[in-house]
Amino acid sequence: MTDTTFNALPLSPSFLKNLTELGYMTMTEVQAQSLPSLLQGKDLIVKAKTGSGKTVAFGISVLNRVTISHSAVQGLILCPTRELADQVARELRKLARQTPNLKILTLCGGMPFGPQLSSLSHAPHIIVATPGRLQEHLRKGSVSLNQVNTLVLDEADRMLDMGFLPSITEIIEKTGRQRQTLLFSATYPDSIREISEKFQQSPNEISVTAIHQTNSLNQLFIKTENNNREELLFKLLAHHKPARCVIFCNTKRSAQQVAEKLQEKGHFALALHGDLEQWQRDQTTLRFANGSCPIIVATDVAARGLDIEGVELVVNCEISRDPEVYVHRIGRTGRAGEQGLALSLFSADEQYKLDAIADYQQLPCKLDSIPDSPEANLFQLRPSMTTLQIDGGRKQKIRPGDLLGALTGEGGIAGNQVGKIHIFDRCAYVAVSCAQTNKALKKLATGKIKGKNFRVRKIR
Ligand code: ADP
Ligand code: MG
Repeated sequence: MTDTTFNALPLSPSFLKNLTELGYMTMTEVQAQSLPSLLQGKDLIVKAKTGSGKTVAFGISVLNRVTISHSAVQGLILCPTRELADQVARELRKLARQTPNLKILTLCGGMPFGPQLSSLSHAPHIIVATPGRLQEHLRKGSVSLNQVNTLVLDEADRMLDMGFLPSITEIIEKTGRQRQTLLFSATYPDSIREISEKFQQSPNEISVTAIHQTNSLNQLFIKTENNNREELLFKLLAHHKPARCVIFCNTKRSAQQVAEKLQEKGHFALALHGDLEQWQRDQTTLRFANGSCPIIVATDVAARGLDIEGVELVVNCEISRDPEVYVHRIGRTGRAGEQGLALSLFSADEQYKLDAIADYQQLPCKLDSIPDSPEANLFQLRPSMTTLQIDGGRKQKIRPGDLLGALTGEGGIAGNQVGKIHIFDRCAYVAVSCAQTNKALKKLATGKIKGKNFRVRKIR
């Protein structure tokens, strides 16, 4: 293997020192493969799964090509959602800690226009944006992109799935001609190739199909004779009793149906797919992370941003046609050295999908039988935590400590009964152990937070 420390790269000593301080000692595979060409200014298509370190890879390239004394937008990163744009901006700021006077701005929908306009009055060096909102700014003339020398489409496949192609095209046409164009994607549909042909110049293609080590992730395939896959799911849940489980379906409709069937059976399950509003998806993801909903039934697109630790089980209720999608799905479990289990249901006429997966992974598909679960009829997977929503957030100056204080103060609940706390602009969520729900509700509703009363409700 070649040297995988960052020191081999043509980066300044202060930049390298900061990487070490951030704990980035060695390059991830995708970084090792892409950074040398990135730093030479080459156009690149990089395909790698979530969590492989793509942000640091393009982040280093974008930062490397910025001239601080030049007051113009030089780096532009387009992301599919506000959450991802925020994540990318945060990572860039970490990478640029040692660079004084660097201005990074996020421009996303769902945020007020006014503050964005005033931030733009003095051009930032780097913009991280969702396509829709950036397009609005372009039309208003509040931003100029003709000095952009590095353009990144992050999660390009997802942006295309979301119908952003026209916006992206309009935006790219306004950027500088002499630019490096980078496409980052988890999958590689034909539409990506089209964008590449239109906007890139002889790009290098890098593909990292990081496959999980078999010791941390066990993959099993279960053959079903009939079409009643829900019955089989009940058995699998009763047998494995996972604390957190993601079930994948191929369509929004079947995801919704499966979630409803599980709910009817008394399981705490929520659907996660593109027909739901953004806020509903956010809330579902949050409840899953909080431990107040143990099962998510998801489509691929909706689950893309789902990066949650402690997923013990992934079930492919329907196997995708594309083996890459399969690998991407099962990557939700067995993270960071945890043990993970991926079960995939298939019928006789889907054998070809298994063959494709085996071929792709260079690993035979291990078959398993349907578990004998005598309790399958009675078993219900229930959460250990409840999520409470408070009608106040950052704008009301609420901080995690205020909620923790209100919950655990005088006659309140014990600190170890309080779980994750999330604060948003106008609301906040706190997880509490199920047994303490009523007490916690009372404490929050009757006590004051920041000297004020806020409405509190249980969202489960
Ligand atoms: P991707 O965009 O490929 O899904 P991210 O860029 O979000 O992945 O990176 C996933 C995580 O890995 C982040 O928390 C990031 O800080 C961390 N990370 C990235 N590069 C390194 C590295 N070289 N060493 C250690 N951690 C890293
Ligand atoms: Mg990413």
